[in-house]
Parts: sequence; structure tokens; C-alpha cells
Amino acid sequence: MLKLHDLYFKPFISEQEIDTAVQNMVNAVAKDLEDEMPVFVGILNGSFMFVSDFVKKYPKPCEVTFIKLASYEGVKSTEDIQRLIGLTQDLTGRTVVILEDIIDSGKTLEEVHRIFKNENVKDLIIATLFYKPEAYDKDFKLHYVGIEIPNKFIVGYGLDYDGLGRDLPDVYQLKTTQHMTNIVLFGPPGAGKGTQA
Ligand code: 5GP
Ligand code: MG
Ligand code: MG
Repeated sequence: MLKLHDLYFKPFISEQEIDTAVQNMVNAVAKDLEDEMPVFVGILNGSFMFVSDFVKKYPKPCEVTFIKLASYEGVKSTEDIQRLIGLTQDLTGRTVVILEDIIDSGKTLEEVHRIFKNENVKDLIIATLFYKPEAYDKDFKLHYVGIEIPNKFIVGYGLDYDGLGRDLPDVYQLKTTQHMTNIVLFGPPGAGKGTQA
């Protein structure tokens, strides 16, 4: 059992299972984009490990870059629009593949679509390693999904709990025991669903 801060996590998805899922995604993307030179865009921080493993396995030349979404500081916004850090290159006419660690509510993905609407890309393709179908409430197509998981909080392989756990090669799931069932991770139930960019 793993303890991060005040919470316990149990082994959930092994390094080997993740490796297989990443390889399967690479195979599918490489087959579909046979005649393209894609730009892989990782969404920091959570995707760094996934992107690293993904592009090492990718069998053909490709470009790799990262962006980060950050909440505006000191601005009270009911819409919670996020600002973008790091998109410096011209992506006009390019086939862009977004590499996400996890898609939960889809709010981050909505921001990504909003940001890329103005970039005149040829194609915006979404690939996510982990996906919580029960939590997703948007209509954006998810082109490649590695592993579907239940609507429970996970850490490891890039994903953190309040800064810890990103370095772990395996993925752990929050252990809920009887005395822990009322734990609220990020805001009231339903409001955040454990979403913290
Ligand atoms: P969404 O915007 O789709 O609700 O959530 C996306 C972001 O929320 C992810 O990039 C990640 O930072 C965070 N997130 C969502 N679910 C989890 C989870 O189970 N564990 C961790 N550590 N982060 C999560
Ligand atoms: Mg992410
Ligand atoms: Mg986080």
C-alpha cells in the first residue's frame, strides 16, 4: 500500500500493462498516420511520462512539443478560462495529435479545442492514455484511448496527488475504506471529480 500525503493508494495498473497499452496506441496511430509527419503535443504536467514512452516507441519521424494550461491568477472568472503556455510554433496545415494522460470530465479537452480552433491545423487528433467514461460529459471525439478506468482517483505514471506520485512507473488507485468514504479531494462531490490540471 502506498501513502501519499494523507491518503492510501493500492496498486491498480502495472508498468507492464501500461507499456502494452502505449504500444497498442502507437501501433494504431502510426498505421492511421502512415503518410503524415505528425506533431505530438503533450499536455503538461501529467502527460510527460506517457509522451516520452509514446514517442520512443513511435516507428517513424515525428515532432514532439508540450503545452501547459494554467488558471489565470488573481482574476475572478466564472468561466474559469485557462491560459496557454508554450505554443510557440506555427502549426498551420499540420496534423496535430494531442497526447493526454487522462480525460476525466473533458473540461481540459474543451480548452484544448478552444485553443487549437485558431491554429488552422489540418487535423486535431486526440489520444489519451487513461479515460473515465463515467465522468466524461463532452461530445468531443476521443480518437485513441489506452485504458478505460472507473471514476476513481488514480496516481502514478505522471499523475499526481497534490504534487506527489508523478514519478511512479505503475498506477495506483485511491483506497477508500469505511472511514475514508467522505473524503473530498478537490471541492464538493460532482464539482471537480478529482480534476486538477
Ligand atoms: P478533465 O479536465 O478531463 O476533467 O481532467 C483532466 C485533468 O484532471 C487531467 O489532466 C489531470 O490533471 C486531472 N485528473 C483527472 N482525473 C484524475 C485522476 O484520477 N488522478 C489524477 N492524479 N489527476 C486527474
Ligand atoms: Mg492531463
Ligand atoms: Mg494533478
